[in-house]
Amino acid sequence: MIDFHIALQTVLDNATRTKTEDIPLENACDRILALGVAAPTDMPPFSKSAMDGYACRREDTERGMKKLEVIAAGDIPKHEITPGTCSKIMTGALVPQGADCVLIVENATLRDELVFGPPPATDNIILRGEDLKKGEPVLTAGTLLRPQHLSLLASCGITQVTVSKKITVGILSTGDELVEPGHSMSPGKVFNSNSWQLMAMVQQMGGIPTYYGIAKDSLLKTQDLLMEALEANHVILLTGGVSEGDFDCVPVVIQDLGFEILFDRVRIQPGKPTTFAISRSTGQFIFGLPGNPVSSFVQCLLMVFPFLAAMQGAHWEPLTTYFPLKEDYKRRRSVRMGHIPVRINPDGTCSPVPYNGSAHQAALSEAHGLGRIPVGTDTIKAGDPMQVLLFY
Ligand code: AMP
Ligand code: MG
Repeated sequence: MIDFHIALQTVLDNATRTKTEDIPLENACDRILALGVAAPTDMPPFSKSAMDGYACRREDTERGMKKLEVIAAGDIPKHEITPGTCSKIMTGALVPQGADCVLIVENATLRDELVFGPPPATDNIILRGEDLKKGEPVLTAGTLLRPQHLSLLASCGITQVTVSKKITVGILSTGDELVEPGHSMSPGKVFNSNSWQLMAMVQQMGGIPTYYGIAKDSLLKTQDLLMEALEANHVILLTGGVSEGDFDCVPVVIQDLGFEILFDRVRIQPGKPTTFAISRSTGQFIFGLPGNPVSSFVQCLLMVFPFLAAMQGAHWEPLTTYFPLKEDYKRRRSVRMGHIPVRINPDGTCSPVPYNGSAHQAALSEAHGLGRIPVGTDTIKAGDPMQVLLFY
């Protein structure tokens, strides 16, 4: 059994980079930037008013100023501001030459055709190049593009980006007890739920998932389905069949197919039997994830997400922070790094969700994140910080 951080490092060290492609901005959400982008101009490209008001010279506001023109956003000012003059200006409009501040409209009074007001406390001008200077990096390679990044790129006039190609991921479940949702149930069976979770997760992290169905717990059946999935995918996620059960045949099958198992037991809970294997001849990867749905979710988050991100040239890890525990937490054994579903309370504390173990999917669905309990820790007292890996 190896420590989680060694398992994760093994996964990351073996990740191979995907190729890149140029795509239009509208398709770029949730993709990973492969080439950094530099600002083509100063940002903003001109000094503009932050407020509706009067562009003027600070020293003139109390003695009254003659209004020269009205400058709308998008206009080019016709007049320079000279002593004793001002121009009405709208938010976002180009600040005329000679002005050093904007007197906001709420503070201005009109008397005898002159504009008066107190000297503004701030300039109310957004200076040219204040956000970025021409040539400075806008976004660096490896950025996971979210809507705010797309807007930033668009603000620079960029319509196309170079991103890492998506990764083909084959997904299959193993287990004689599994029945696909929508089919009739019989005693002793459970609906296959993992595959739906994993397909959605793969999509979130730049994968193209393809589902191959359920393999019965036999060497031959598992091998057949796995071979089919390997024909068309770079990475395989399979669930179940990697523990100590009499019918857990996945390790044998993947070795028979020429894969080398780099680890198969991790000091982590849930998810101890998580298995990672690579084929040196084809460059393909297999993750054997535990069958219990909470375990496969946690391992996909902790291992597969960083791996898929690394294949696309990005560093990814769950957003992690600490919250004080609302009530005492205690666990029976502390030999593995533990993860439990937790909720963040409105008062800034966190609370474990009532949790019956790694088959308890309802608990996971209520959670805002995973509380992480270090190896060797069995108790965390109320008020003490708990590390939380947030879902987002
Ligand atoms: P295994 O890892 O194959 O021993 O499975 C561990 C537990 O997870 C068993 O209770 C299985 O019935 C359950 N399980 C395995 N695969 C799935 C699946 N795809 N969906 C839901 N439960 C599963
Ligand atoms: Mg099984």
